[in-house]
Amino acid sequence: MSDTALPIAGGERIREVARALVRRHRGALLLVITLHAFAALAGLVGPWVIGRMIDELSSGTAGMATIDIMFLLLAGAVVLQALVTRFAQLWSLRLGESVFAKLREDFLATVTSLPLSVVERAGTGDLLSRTTSDVDAVAQTVRFGVPRILVTGMTVILTLGAAFIINPLVALAILAGVPLIALSSRWYLRRSGPGYRRQLATYGRLVGVINETVEGARTIDALALAPVQRLKIDRALAARNQAERYTLGLRSVWYPLTTLGFLVPVIAVLLWGAFLMGQGLATAGDVTTIALYAMQLTGPVEELVNWMDRLQVGTTALARIVGVAEVPTDRPRADQTPEGEQVEARGIRFSYRAGVEVLRDVDLVPRVGERVAIVGPSGSGKSTLARMLTGITGPTGGEVTVGGADVMRIPLDVLRQHVALVTQEHHVFVGTLADNLRLAAPDARDGELEEALQAVGALRWVRAMPHGLETVVGSGGVVLTPAQAQQVALARLVLLDPHTLVLDEATSLLDPRAARGLEQSLDRVLEGRTVIAIAHRLHTARDADRVIVMREGRIVESGSHDELVAMGGEYAALWRSWQAESAEDPPS
Ligand code: ADP
Repeated sequence: MSDTALPIAGGERIREVARALVRRHRGALLLVITLHAFAALAGLVGPWVIGRMIDELSSGTAGMATIDIMFLLLAGAVVLQALVTRFAQLWSLRLGESVFAKLREDFLATVTSLPLSVVERAGTGDLLSRTTSDVDAVAQTVRFGVPRILVTGMTVILTLGAAFIINPLVALAILAGVPLIALSSRWYLRRSGPGYRRQLATYGRLVGVINETVEGARTIDALALAPVQRLKIDRALAARNQAERYTLGLRSVWYPLTTLGFLVPVIAVLLWGAFLMGQGLATAGDVTTIALYAMQLTGPVEELVNWMDRLQVGTTALARIVGVAEVPTDRPRADQTPEGEQVEARGIRFSYRAGVEVLRDVDLVPRVGERVAIVGPSGSGKSTLARMLTGITGPTGGEVTVGGADVMRIPLDVLRQHVALVTQEHHVFVGTLADNLRLAAPDARDGELEEALQAVGALRWVRAMPHGLETVVGSGGVVLTPAQAQQVALARLVLLDPHTLVLDEATSLLDPRAARGLEQSLDRVLEGRTVIAIAHRLHTARDADRVIVMREGRIVESGSHDELVAMGGEYAALWRSWQAESAEDPPS
């Protein structure tokens, strides 16, 4: 099994994204770097002044006035550093926030425009962990990591520079720790990248399994699958644990080595400095200043190295986030516009898995305004055909056209104004009722929204709501009854006004009274449109102009209800058994 079904961006793509971000925020970045440079420079004054004082005092030339001035300088530098640092931090955080905000917006736009079939295939865990924990990891890096890396990087460079200006010979000793830090970091960074990638992927799998367990809790209970599911969770946990232990192991080698790398320079400066003083090549002041610099470097270098590590988690997470944008669109060429209302499916073939065709050579050409009912046993391919007809998934063979245009080459927003899939899923989005309706027609005026509600018989209860159209619904707001939610969904359809509706009519979960009311609403929506209904209740089929019977991915019978009953084939048998059933249990 591959680690993930969704792509992960490569290094080159990540660098491209980073470069684009730098370009977009060039001004702010320059300001932040300049401020940090000033803060770092102010921080260098202290040790330098102390070094000078030691030299002045030891040579005995210093008057009290000089010492006073030096103290003032020292105090001034500390105050200045504090002030500049404050602004530098403030601006870096602002920069981090605006970079992150843009990233998040881009990501959301990408996720919401992913082809539905890709989302279904990838499973929720991967996408969920990318939208939650990965976005968090990137946020941490961008908000705090990037600013701190700028600060510490700047401090390290300027401190080293200052040390070399004061006394290049003594300053050489500061570099004594470099080989240790460089070699151990190289060893670490080579292994940590893949390690962190594995860690995030195992987390995605864990989220997936847990999510699946929660969502499928009833099924798991019903089929007594709990032990199986527990085993799956245990396995995912074990994989996560192992991946975490690996990176922890790497860190437990790398951290002590780098810490040692910080201590070495201070000792080296003192020993080497003492030797140089003996040779008359350095003063006590030089050695003091540079030793203080070496100590001052410990903090920033440690932080820098630490952030390099967390930067890896951040870039790995970024690669997963940016990778989502690499999902190939299922409509590479959306360049056709439908002319007319004729829907035609010819020679449709489809397989979810290579070699297993679930639709074989299906032709379906409804007349404009015709009502077609599709019946057949479960698994015969009815829902799959509905997906093809509505262009949710492209067929692997044959072609579906709407008004002469290939359904997969019509831009989605245009297609939905022609053909829409109606399921009994009726999601109420958090927002006002008007917001919920305008999802279908963003520019509709209140009057049009009310007309649509009137058409589905919902205007009365909407008007009775505390704020009418502006009532906030969904979680946290007014909770609509399932029937009301379904009516809102139907009103959306009226606003969208497609000429053809594909109806996936699941067995109604509503109570009979609500169902009757809804059927009237639905009838009004269907009026004057071409309707292809997947019928689970055969009275829908009886009322249709044409009935199509599917078995094993093929259309095996086609004709009016009466013709098919008279023919005495598969449909006639279905009809007889359904009638017998409904005699015992009258349909609602
Ligand atoms: P119906 O709607 O008539 O019950 P479907 O179109 O749902 O039939 O299914 C047709 C066949 O395709 C079935 O054998 C089903 O197992 C298979 N199938 C449906 N969805 C998927 C999927 N996402 N991946 C793989 N096979 C699928």
